[in-house]
Amino acid sequence: MRTWTVLVWLAVAAAGCGGNTAEEAAAPAAAVEPRPNFVVLFADDLGYGDLGSYGHPYNRTPHLDALAAAGQRWTDFYVASPVCSPSRGALLTGRLPVRTGLYGERIGVYFPNDPGGFPDRETTLAETLSAQGYRTGIFGKWHLGDANAAWPTRHGFDEWLGLPYSNDMDDVGQPDFDDLMAISLSGDNDGMAAAMSVRAERYAAPKLEYWNVPLYASKRTDDGFADETIERPADQRTLTRRYTEAAIEFMQASGDAPFFVYLPYTMPHTPLFRSDAFTERSLGGRYGDVIEELDWSVGEIVKALTELGKLDNTLVLFTSDNGPWLTMRTEGGRAGLLRHGKGTTFEGGVRVPAIFSWPGRLAPGVVSELGSTLDLYVTLTLLAGVDSNAGVDGYDLSPVLLQNLESPRREMPYYRNGTLYAYRLGQWKAHFITEGAYRQPPERTEHDVPELYHLLDDPSERFNVAAQQPDVLAEIEAAVAAHTAGLTRLPPEFDRRLVALMDSAEGG
Ligand code: MG
Repeated sequence: MRTWTVLVWLAVAAAGCGGNTAEEAAAPAAAVEPRPNFVVLFADDLGYGDLGSYGHPYNRTPHLDALAAAGQRWTDFYVASPVCSPSRGALLTGRLPVRTGLYGERIGVYFPNDPGGFPDRETTLAETLSAQGYRTGIFGKWHLGDANAAWPTRHGFDEWLGLPYSNDMDDVGQPDFDDLMAISLSGDNDGMAAAMSVRAERYAAPKLEYWNVPLYASKRTDDGFADETIERPADQRTLTRRYTEAAIEFMQASGDAPFFVYLPYTMPHTPLFRSDAFTERSLGGRYGDVIEELDWSVGEIVKALTELGKLDNTLVLFTSDNGPWLTMRTEGGRAGLLRHGKGTTFEGGVRVPAIFSWPGRLAPGVVSELGSTLDLYVTLTLLAGVDSNAGVDGYDLSPVLLQNLESPRREMPYYRNGTLYAYRLGQWKAHFITEGAYRQPPERTEHDVPELYHLLDDPSERFNVAAQQPDVLAEIEAAVAAHTAGLTRLPPEFDRRLVALMDSAEGG
């Protein structure tokens, strides 16, 4: 049975609080005055091929396409994991999941009622920016632990409105995490298949009452936190609209203070829901409707920034946490010309749309340099005037953003769970292990001679040229050796509960 797919770096906060002259003297070259605002719009499971500006023939995404036309549209932008929780942890810390422990070998993501969650030893982008005087808000899906101590307001965010985890968790009347693990550990394949088939039926004809997922609000206060359950189950039809409105209110209330808005949409992760205004409006069914409502949201954010007179001082990024969930059929998206999707280390799993906007600052155009959500921590904190990149796996992308220079990122590791499956060096990508996801081919294969693809000649990874390029393989293997030697790994946080269950089963 396949498990359901599912150096502590010193905080710079202390140094950053004072805003003293010594610190200003040390401000990095990339720092911009007045300090820019940051808006990170993060779709869930949106594929490389789902936007008009990335080649989709029917989904109408005029606001995103306009941002792409006036700003930068990146062709080679990556997340650090092909599934939700590790991808989010990497964006917020700038560190690989194997370095933070925000991954699992057996359990792919955080499930409800996990006693752990985002660890205190890690520092988020929100924490670092907050220490620099930024107002920080998250409006959307967290998915880095639902225990109180793991909430985003405990990790650098002033405010949160959103879901603690995926919108298909807490499925009513279905096995919970412990039940599923017990079924799995007992080898009851029929029981697991039955649970999975009910899920599939629900996704295909979604009703709000199937998922008892909560909508939370939380704020940091002078003496602690104000936490509230807004509704349960969340009215998922309203989430895109309400996240957008809350983000706009937050920006409007920021006055002269710089802000960091993180808007991790719940959509288009299945089950798909959209508001009445977007129901049966697109040419592309429920999935198309959901994409068009996300595009509406982006338009509203841009409009609000314009009205506030802050558009020209705000770096906006729209991207996605991982590739499309292909087994959801018409309820899922598409990776365009890229191979495979969510859950895999083929390009379709981890290469995502990335549209940057910053009128008057960005060098506009299509960018085919390498970039990653891992780079946001370094890039944004440097733009905010703080050098905090010790122990971080990212690079400063500001030379590409501001001057259209070469990216300092030349390499990209592709991890699945805690294992390095593939590695990109320049335009070459070697696969050491290939494996489909969600019971889709190909079967897991460890390659004695890695598969090798030239991603410019062959973006769909169709033609293995390893036999013709032994020197390239040797270079990649040397790069991997250097990467691995520089990595201090932590054990997987997401597996803790399963390990405890297995221990208690053995003990019993
Ligand atoms: Mg996702």
